Amino acid sequence: MTSPASLPDVAQLLPDLHQLVEIESPSGDAQAISRVMDVVEGWARALGAEVENLAGGTRSFQFGEQQRPALILTHADTVWPQGTLEGMPFRVEGDRVYGPGTYDMKAGIVSAIHALRALHASGGWPLGGIRLLITPDEEIGSHSSRAHIEAAARQARAVLVVEPPVADTHALKTGRKGVGSFVLTLHGVASHAGNKPEEGASAIAEAARLIPAIHALAQPEAGTTVSVGLIRGGSAVNVIPARCTLEVDVRVSTLAEGERVTASMQALTSSDPRVRLELGGGLNRPPFERGPQTLALYARAQALAGSLGFQLSEAVVGGGSDGNFTAPLSPTLDGLGAPGDGAHATHEHVRLDRWPQHVALLTELLREV
Ligand SMILES: [Zn+2]
Repeated sequence: MTSPASLPDVAQLLPDLHQLVEIESPSGDAQAISRVMDVVEGWARALGAEVENLAGGTRSFQFGEQQRPALILTHADTVWPQGTLEGMPFRVEGDRVYGPGTYDMKAGIVSAIHALRALHASGGWPLGGIRLLITPDEEIGSHSSRAHIEAAARQARAVLVVEPPVADTHALKTGRKGVGSFVLTLHGVASHAGNKPEEGASAIAEAARLIPAIHALAQPEAGTTVSVGLIRGGSAVNVIPARCTLEVDVRVSTLAEGERVTASMQALTSSDPRVRLELGGGLNRPPFERGPQTLALYARAQALAGSLGFQLSEAVVGGGSDGNFTAPLSPTLDGLGAPGDGAHATHEHVRLDRWPQHVALLTELLREV
């Protein structure tokens, strides 16, 4: 038995969070994201990390020997554009710290660094070592980082994702829905709406016929949701519309449901042979299914939380993360970042009264997995 870990002091966590939040890093701003990574790299090097720059802007920091390391997943990008800090400054109010990207997930990065510092200070790295990956594009689908994340997960003995816990709780994430989006473009035939309507084929009319069929693919009892969230079409009110585009949000709890919805989308047909259908997109993040390996990791986390004096819970959530990519490849536990609320919202904040407990939990988990 290790002795009960001491909790880190908020006064040590806050300056590091402040430093990261003051560097605004929206997805797509490669220079800003790289500045965030430079700060993290400095912290990692001070702990003796080996650094690797991967294609597309992901960085990897390796601590200790790398024999099936425990993998910590973080992302440096936020949903907030440059200039957000002006109206939404970094500020502490009572036991909350506010600011863009605090909860999702700059405090999670700070949690990981402080857990690593605690391990380093107490005698070194666990057997097999630890690897920390920081990616630039989680908020926009992880297109440049997915291959690196999957390669690292294949070599890892466990994956700990420091996305935040469920809002305003101590709940870790033991499953996430798979997320996809389809773009259905209908190509009809334009014609004068008054003079020669019979020569046109309306892409909008066909889209209207297809929307109920698309929504009928939802199966709420199986966890499948389907929603046409964006529609664009037509060129002028007096023209039979030659083009209409539907964008469809899809969430699934199982891979089988993802395959069913994909096959059904591909099987959609037009009732008018003059309207051609073109389907793009698909399932971007596979479902992170709540499996036995994840639950075994969760059970250890729950026991550790008990010894640290707080009660953990778990939840399966609708939003995706990079944990969706790793769960099929390696035991994955998500939501190990900083507790708080308001992801992607102006009241985004971290709870300072709860954060130290979660840093200690991450530290102890890294010691054990
Ligand atoms: Zn996030």
